[in-house]
Amino acid sequence: MCADSGQLKVIIVGAGLAGLTAALAFRRAGHIVSIYEKYPEDKFGKEIGAAISLTPNSTRILDGFGVEFERMGCVEHRQRRYFKHDEEVGGAYKVDVTGSHLRDTYGYPFYMVHRTDLLNELRQLVTQPTSEGDGLGEACELYLGRRVVECHPEDGVVVLKGGERVEGDIIVGADGINSSLRKFILGKEINLIHSGSAAYRTTIPYDQLTENPKLKWLTDNPHGMIFIRDERRSLVVYPCRGGKVISIGGIHPVDPTSSSESSEPPTKPSTADFLQAFEDYAPRFKELISLSPNVHLWPLLISPSSSVSDSDDIHSNTYVNGRTVMIGDAAHAMLPHIGQGGAQGIEDAALLPVLFPLNTSNSYDIVSSRLKLYERLRKPRVERIMELSNRTGKGFVVVDGELERWLYGYDVVKEGKQALAEYLRNGGK
Ligand SMILES: Cc1cc2nc3c(=O)[nH]c(=O)nc-3n(C[C@H](O)[C@H](O)[C@H](O)COP(=O)(O)OP(=O)(O)OC[C@H]3O[C@@H](n4cnc5c(N)ncnc54)[C@H](O)[C@@H]3O)c2cc1C
Repeated sequence: MCADSGQLKVIIVGAGLAGLTAALAFRRAGHIVSIYEKYPEDKFGKEIGAAISLTPNSTRILDGFGVEFERMGCVEHRQRRYFKHDEEVGGAYKVDVTGSHLRDTYGYPFYMVHRTDLLNELRQLVTQPTSEGDGLGEACELYLGRRVVECHPEDGVVVLKGGERVEGDIIVGADGINSSLRKFILGKEINLIHSGSAAYRTTIPYDQLTENPKLKWLTDNPHGMIFIRDERRSLVVYPCRGGKVISIGGIHPVDPTSSSESSEPPTKPSTADFLQAFEDYAPRFKELISLSPNVHLWPLLISPSSSVSDSDDIHSNTYVNGRTVMIGDAAHAMLPHIGQGGAQGIEDAALLPVLFPLNTSNSYDIVSSRLKLYERLRKPRVERIMELSNRTGKGFVVVDGELERWLYGYDVVKEGKQALAEYLRNGGK
């Protein structure tokens, strides 16, 4: 800690959605932040993950951090349309307008955004220089092309490839589903569980589709989300980049033991592979797949939850160890059936600095106790969401009614402030 300023030194491993949001949150709270990202400049933010949906529980947080949704080309979700996978003619068999009331009900909208645009927006906010009196905290140091290979969680030390050691008061492992830090935090390797499904993902410029008569089911109304499903597969289509780009995801069953499905994601299959997996879809839907360039395939892996992990081993079921905490997919990879993987990483990131206001001591006891408090606050919510998301085979979960209020109406910052006040009142460190 910097003795005069009361700032903590925070090291973040991974500049994905969770890591950059955590950096922004700690910056805004006044701390000193360094981020280490394994990808060099030419690969950073180039992940072909197509678009992502941002539900109101996450747009509330991002809005509070100054993220500009318009600048990112976000498209507001207002409507879902469902088509039968084998029907060549006719409109949607079901239309729901669940998106349209979200802004009014929760104060924040449901957006669809290209991942690269979101990462670039966060990067800019994290690294932009401070101006006198703007209250936005010191710019974070972002080190690209710096892979972390080792972590000493209790000491607050990470070791970079090449041997350099970096020390912080808090280490945040935001290094994604194939986390390198996880085994150091848990004290052992754990195997992620293959869900038996994988997702093809790609994007297509919208103007390549407009003149195509076979795609009228899409171009007649390109602004909402479209689901084309059978019992085993889902083709999910929605716009991003101000409607100029269409994002396509194709979730389908795979053999978890086949080598191409189990290699590190993403692999690069051909458009023909994508078509093959959806071969009995109606020609009008296969037309869209056939136009898909640069297809990537992601095996859908999930973290073992407390119910399946070895409960006798205290470390197998934790996000924290000493001065170190895992957030985002590193801690809790889940299926995309409820659109919450990224959103939960954003909630994780926003909560952390709430529990470490300026002038929090950097003593081991205090940092490790606060991280345990963090875990107690996050686990029940994340595990319920994982349970809902991971009901494999059941496809996308409809979020409405009580579930919608619980999921989208949640304010993690407010909950964190209340919990910290109560914790301190009760003699917590
Ligand atoms: C098909 C599909 C659809 C999805 N749709 C949605 C959705 O609509 N809404 C939603 O909220 N979520 C969705 N998700 C989930 C979401 O994509 C993830 O939860 C989210 O991207 C995870 O972010 P993260 O920052 O934790 O990890 P990542 O985005 O994986 O970032 C990890 C970062 O760490 C870096 N890194 C890794 N190892 C090291 C190392 N050793 N040293 C330094 N850096 C390292 C990586 O290069 C990367 O930049 C979806 C997922 C899938 C597969």
